[in-house]
Amino acid sequence: MKILIINSGSSSIKFQLMAMPSEVLICTGLVERIGYETATITYKTDVDTIKQTHNIANHKDGLGRVVDLLMDPEHGVISNTDEVEIVGHRVVHGGNSFSDTTFITPEVKDKVEEYIALAPLHNPGNLEGILVAEDIFPNAKQVVVFDTAFHQTIPEKAKKYAIPNELYEKYGIQVYGFHGTSHQYVSEKTNEYLKLASSKIITIHLGNGCSMTAVMDGKSIDHSLGFTPSNGLIMGSRSGDIDHGLIFHLVNNLDYTLDEVKTLVTNKSGMLGLTGHMDLRDIEAAAKSGNKDCILALEMNTYRIKKYIGSYVAAMNGLDAIVFTAGIGENSSLIRKMVCEDMDFFGIELNQAENELRTPGLREISMNSSKVKVLVVPTNEELEIAKQAYTLVN
Ligand code: ADP
Repeated sequence: MKILIINSGSSSIKFQLMAMPSEVLICTGLVERIGYETATITYKTDVDTIKQTHNIANHKDGLGRVVDLLMDPEHGVISNTDEVEIVGHRVVHGGNSFSDTTFITPEVKDKVEEYIALAPLHNPGNLEGILVAEDIFPNAKQVVVFDTAFHQTIPEKAKKYAIPNELYEKYGIQVYGFHGTSHQYVSEKTNEYLKLASSKIITIHLGNGCSMTAVMDGKSIDHSLGFTPSNGLIMGSRSGDIDHGLIFHLVNNLDYTLDEVKTLVTNKSGMLGLTGHMDLRDIEAAAKSGNKDCILALEMNTYRIKKYIGSYVAAMNGLDAIVFTAGIGENSSLIRKMVCEDMDFFGIELNQAENELRTPGLREISMNSSKVKVLVVPTNEELEIAKQAYTLVN
């Protein structure tokens, strides 16, 4: 059975075609700069990599061109759209309405639209992807996996903010959590590896967006992102935790408008604000050459992660493993080293040599004597969506 996974953003569509249940990847690709005359499509199979530039006006046009490539007589992998039996969609915000993967119905689409208010950067593009895919693959089963779903198990004591109850009850103001498919995928892989009857693990997703989850017996019980994807760790261009009093000070005393504050903490802060660079590779290189801002930014970044580890150890009253994943977590031995330094009180001992290796797949990078296992687990959100969609349909 062939499943097409679609991750549709405001101006991009990532896609993967997968055979299930064998989990064989048939092709993968990306449409970027939708809405521009110089939009690009990248399409890869085992034998081909094709890059095209087109004027792509909208998502329908973009996905249409993807389908042309999928069915291309020379480079294609299917002969008609009905070969795609399931389309699995990633949607960022499912509010409190969805704790599981679900078939797309008019009611589900209404909810995705309603939650645009909570995820204005993500849900509109996600919804557009659904509408276009329904049109192009009318006979496929359309399934949605929500980024927030994995975190629906977070108990009230962790997900409520200490503001009047009415705001929680009437308006759903609470922690929702994000990157759920990634945290779920790597925690499941970790549990398969640990083979413990009961487990306490911390998953650390470090990409452009960064978040951590305390996972007890496979369930998310606390998470660093909150009502929006702004809280917690220091990210590429987002500040993470700040004293909200700072916002009032900027507005009341320094003449910022609210929109300017939003842009400041969302797009101009984090590693970018501290160093002038967003890509960690540039920051590491500059730190190596002695750049003081970059050295301090790396210290601040990893100090924040350590503090969250401490709080989640307290929340779970123990720890079996910490797991690094996503672009930075999987690739930066320096960040992993700095996070694990001076953590022997918690029983975390990094194996420096293993940490430097770049072997693919799940790997253990802690000492044999380490009470807590330190793992690198490559995330695969698309595969997680494919697995969940396949399970739902079958
Ligand atoms: P996104 O959140 O956009 O999905 P990714 O998970 O792909 O992001 O992570 C992207 C980030 O990973 C880049 O911005 C870069 O900082 C970091 N990264 C990728 N490769 C390396 C590397 N070899 N060393 C350090 N950082 C890396």
